Amino acid sequence: MSDDVARETFAELRWGDKLVQTCPHCGVIRAHRYVKLQKRWRCKECYQPFSVTSGSVFHGHKLPLQTIIAGILIYANAVKGLSALQLSRELDVQYKTAFVLLHKIRESLWKTQNTTPFEGDVEIDAAHVHRYMRPKNKKADRVDRRLEENQNKMKCIVLVIRQRCPAQDDGEEGAMRTRIFVLKSENENDIRAVVEANVKRGSRIFTDEASGYASLGALYPHEVVCHEAEYQSDSGANQNQAESYFARLRRMLMGQIHQYVRKHLDVYANEIAFREDWRRKSNRTFVMDALQKCLQCARSRDWAKYWQGNKRRHDSVMNIPARTLASPAAG
Ligand SMILES: [Zn+2]
Repeated sequence: MSDDVARETFAELRWGDKLVQTCPHCGVIRAHRYVKLQKRWRCKECYQPFSVTSGSVFHGHKLPLQTIIAGILIYANAVKGLSALQLSRELDVQYKTAFVLLHKIRESLWKTQNTTPFEGDVEIDAAHVHRYMRPKNKKADRVDRRLEENQNKMKCIVLVIRQRCPAQDDGEEGAMRTRIFVLKSENENDIRAVVEANVKRGSRIFTDEASGYASLGALYPHEVVCHEAEYQSDSGANQNQAESYFARLRRMLMGQIHQYVRKHLDVYANEIAFREDWRRKSNRTFVMDALQKCLQCARSRDWAKYWQGNKRRHDSVMNIPARTLASPAAG
């Protein structure tokens, strides 16, 4: 891919047109003046210069555009995620460069996720994904894990909501849309707040027998699979789509990422949600869609100047205020 073709590809994905651009400074949409020597445009309204990546997640990029596309292509091919070391070898760039590139892609996928409420048949499940805390070598050095101050600080759960494909003649089956939420624990208050905000009333929900889901039966048609006895009930109730999401998430965290901190768990979990939803799409569709999402996202607050000391401050765990659960009749 030549420089010009790469730039045209970026421009078309970002603005939907090769001939018309949106000025990132003033927002005016028109054919702005192209300065050939600088390979940039100059706005006809505010006279500010801008390039094809100005104001996007790749603002101020140093990598050539072709390398960014190659990075996304390698990322798209990795079915269970990709480690930064592997990408750095494949692109022949530094580890730090690959690490930030991967996280900019993940952040874009996170910011551009579809947030419309789920409907139809919806599976809900949660899993602990925090790291194992290895005990000290000598027994005398080991601490009492039951005490709060000695508990695992990484402890949290990933709650997944997956909408099943409606039964169709074209043979499409499995899940069609997935969203994840990182919560402190599988408690009734948090789960109910998330589900009420993200699943339309009237949807049929499938969960396991955990106590956190108990009150959902008052709000939705609710089918429960008792995992102690069966994976699928006689009526066909199961949550196999949610389970297959977790299977892939665990393979990513254990087999590709190895080390991560809790504050980035949301973007990792969302990456697998995206991969699950796009698993049957072509490689080109994945690359173009991921690149478009990156270009339509504003400059990253967490990942711009990361290695110069700018770090993400907020945790990935959602902060849901406790409330008195309304009685089923009132709810
Ligand atoms: Zn302008």
